[in-house]
Order: sequence, then structure tokens, then C-alpha cells
Amino acid sequence: MIILDTAYHITFDEHSSKPEIACTGNCRKAWWKSDFANKHISLCPLCGGSLCEAVEKVHYNVLSSANRPLRLSDFTSTTDVPHREKLSIKALLKGGAGINNLSVVKPAFVEKARAEWCS
Ligand SMILES: [Zn+2]
Repeated sequence: MIILDTAYHITFDEHSSKPEIACTGNCRKAWWKSDFANKHISLCPLCGGSLCEAVEKVHYNVLSSANRPLRLSDFTSTTDVPHREKLSIKALLKGGAGINNLSVVKPAFVEKARAEWCS
């Protein structure tokens, strides 16, 4: 598992590899090449912004990384996860589904996210 801190999101992934791609547009999210499987990497899938190579401590910071799967406590101890999202994360973990690049908008930026990249 790996937990990343980016400008507006906390991002969780079941693998411990670091992201390779960063958005320089509105959402500033970090991406893994696997997020673009079979697709041309050109624009951010979330906000449509430009992408560049992700550089640690510039585009993202690693909050936590370990050689084990994600646990619900990883989410709840890292950020304020809304109750509804907590339930769906719980269901994902219980169902054995992989969690790839699951991002939670930081509470202070929820309004910004709604206005700029969530519809
Ligand atoms: Zn973006």
C-alpha cells in the first residue's frame, strides 16, 4: 500500500509503487501509468489539465508506504473520510477488490473540487 499527499487530495493505492505522472491543471492529482492502461496519456482524466512526469516532494509526498494491503484504518487515520465513502471503502476491502488510485479530496478543498473538477 501507499498513501500520497498531493495539493488537494489524499490518494490511496494497494500497490507500494510511486506514481509516474502528475496533473499540473486544476486538480493536481498524481497518476500511475496503469491508470492509463491502453489509453494515450495526454490529458488529466479528472480535470482535463496537462500532465507531466511526477516528481516526489514537488508533485506529491509519500505519507505512508508498506508491503501489505490497505486497511480501513489507513483511511480513517489519514484523513477525514466522509461516512458514505467509508462504507464504500469498507465494502471494497471486504470484497477483496483492489484499491487503485482512490483519492479523497481534503476537507478544505471540497468546495474547490466541486467547482473545478467534480460535476
Ligand atoms: Zn487534473
